[in-house]
Amino acid sequence: MPGTLFIVTAPSGAGKTTLVRGLLARDSQISLSISFTTRPPRPGERNAEHYHFVDVPTFKALRDKGEFLEWAEVHGNYYATSKVWIREQMLEDRDILLEIDWQGAQQVRKVFPDSVGVFILPPSLEILERRLRGRGTDSDEVIARRLLGARSEMRHVGEFEYVILNNELRDAVEDLAAVVRAARLRYPKQHVRHAPYFDYLEQD
Ligand code: 5GP
Repeated sequence: MPGTLFIVTAPSGAGKTTLVRGLLARDSQISLSISFTTRPPRPGERNAEHYHFVDVPTFKALRDKGEFLEWAEVHGNYYATSKVWIREQMLEDRDILLEIDWQGAQQVRKVFPDSVGVFILPPSLEILERRLRGRGTDSDEVIARRLLGARSEMRHVGEFEYVILNNELRDAVEDLAAVVRAARLRYPKQHVRHAPYFDYLEQD
């Protein structure tokens, strides 16, 4: 398959969603996976656009039928990636981007060892705390819990091939686009993409 599977993981407050949106706006070859979740929609979130919002029994039924490539419990809600959708995109030779947590990333890596993992870090812990407080409405306890969650997610940074510090959004989008571009130029991908050329070169 010439397409590449990208896994993008970040603690909350790292600015992952904005960064991914920036990449998708400039690269039409990538399809973003829409996850399933049991979390209720936030204001402005639409079903099938941000997530497929389902209740817990539906989630469990889909999971037990083997519909998910990976699934995880994050902050008390279930999240999962659709297997069928991924297969469809791969058959169309599309690049795919998954925005998932480290637990999901570990599962996907087992199924697709040539996937490319990118971890997004906030520029510093101080800035992360400031960003988490920035919403203004949350109690100290909620913020402390989020910070702790972010720290434990960040401990998995070493499991990813690439790390981007999201300081200036524009630079971070450039970095992510550079990772995507380099991944597309890997030998196995180029070999499939330009098969007749490579076959000719490899003839005696
Ligand atoms: P949120 O509810 O804020 O949109 O996402 C919470 C966390 O769940 C984020 O870390 C996000 O990456 C993760 N997440 C979203 N979709 C999936 C998924 O399909 N699988 C896994 N494993 N994690 C996901």
